[in-house]
Amino acid sequence: MIDTGSSEQIWVTALGELQIQVNKSNYRTWLAKTIGVSYQNERFVIGVPNTFVAEYLDKNQRSLIENVLTGLLRHEVQVQFQVCTKEPNAPSSYSNREKTAPPQQARFPLFNPKYTFDSFVVGSCNQLAYDAALQVAQNLGHSDNPLFIYGGAGLGKTHLLQAIGHTALTQKAHVLYVSAEQFTNEFINAIRDKKTREFREKYRSADVLLVDDIQFFSGKEQTAENFFHTFDQLHNANRQIAITSGCSPQALSLLPDRLRSRFEGGLVTDVQAPDFETRLAILQAKSDQKGVNISADVLEFIAQQIQQNIRALEGSLNRVVAYARLLKSTVTPELAAQALEDIADKRAPTIAITPGLLIERVADSFRLTAIDLKSRKRDKETVLARQVAMYLMKQETDCSLTHIGKELGDRDHHIVSQAYKKIASDITTDAGLRDKILGIKQGLYPTNY
Ligand code: ADP
Ligand code: MG
Repeated sequence: MIDTGSSEQIWVTALGELQIQVNKSNYRTWLAKTIGVSYQNERFVIGVPNTFVAEYLDKNQRSLIENVLTGLLRHEVQVQFQVCTKEPNAPSSYSNREKTAPPQQARFPLFNPKYTFDSFVVGSCNQLAYDAALQVAQNLGHSDNPLFIYGGAGLGKTHLLQAIGHTALTQKAHVLYVSAEQFTNEFINAIRDKKTREFREKYRSADVLLVDDIQFFSGKEQTAENFFHTFDQLHNANRQIAITSGCSPQALSLLPDRLRSRFEGGLVTDVQAPDFETRLAILQAKSDQKGVNISADVLEFIAQQIQQNIRALEGSLNRVVAYARLLKSTVTPELAAQALEDIADKRAPTIAITPGLLIERVADSFRLTAIDLKSRKRDKETVLARQVAMYLMKQETDCSLTHIGKELGDRDHHIVSQAYKKIASDITTDAGLRDKILGIKQGLYPTNY
């Protein structure tokens, strides 16, 4: 049996996982202010701020929450939602933040106190983005404008954007941070309430405007147009703008061209999936922050399991720590393997990644066929697609170079090796190619992104 004292900790870990599984606004609205109240006889009581939240969670997220808790605790759990009238002792970070926020920021989402430059671990995957963000934060409005950071989910974009925010606040700048989703909602409400002037003035008064996840504007013409005017006005007045996006400006094809070209006129930089050393350094930093001591072999094990998403990496570390606490055991690689068993399953591709599948996916993304890739065709596009297929087969399967060559029209292993090196080097300079390859990988491992 598990004592009720650990329910708080279990729930914090569960929230870490739920944060990965539900979208951000859903998390913020329904889950962020919940706490673990008690856990006894397979009944887990979750404290919520009011009956509205209790009803919503009960109706819509009960089974998701039960699954997460069952996974964590290793046996069936039933949840119960209970309204806690008094302020929870250990509220989630969101409510903490709201209480300590300076009043002029209170209407806007607040910065996560953990998202600072100091706590950001730099590796080759994010060095350029980090340098650019720091440079912008230290030379507001006099540096590259806008700064545009893009990349896959969970790779530190929001962290860097908020780090700029923290630094700007210390310079007493008037900082506005908003997700594109929120900006859209506010805009719609402003139209409804006939308050578009106030809306415009609010955003145009900023010294520093930080917009997160700009891809949300895609296809929302009116909002994007409105944002364009705000952008231009701030830009002309040398106010600093920084933006994050799930994809590059070129790939935001549903945004107005003139907005995209404004983005391209600033500094565009990306964050990539971390390499093994960086993953290890991040795990080390996160366990230091938590004040837990975990041996290098366990950290290495976790770093091997989770490769594409730093948020998931952190979630896995939390899970291993919580699991060890529950079992009152020390953390060993075996225990970590048990704790991550079903996460690893979940993150494993749902389909087996075979050479044939990769050839098909690459061919599709180049609008060619598998037959083209295996053929003798030597036009530029087919050659490139073939090289990308070779690159991905070497990266994503255990096939030897000879095997890969055979799959692609009986080509020599030297050709495969050259193609691999060429693509590995080209993606460091060619953002379009990198996007394309990332897109193919996302299709293979949807849950990792
Ligand atoms: P994104 O906005 O790209 O989806 P986030 O900025 O939300 O990703 O990052 C996800 C989580 O991973 C956050 O908790 C963040 O602090 C952490 N994280 C990401 N990159 C780093 C890094 N380089 N060093 C330390 N923590 C990081
Ligand atoms: Mg983000």
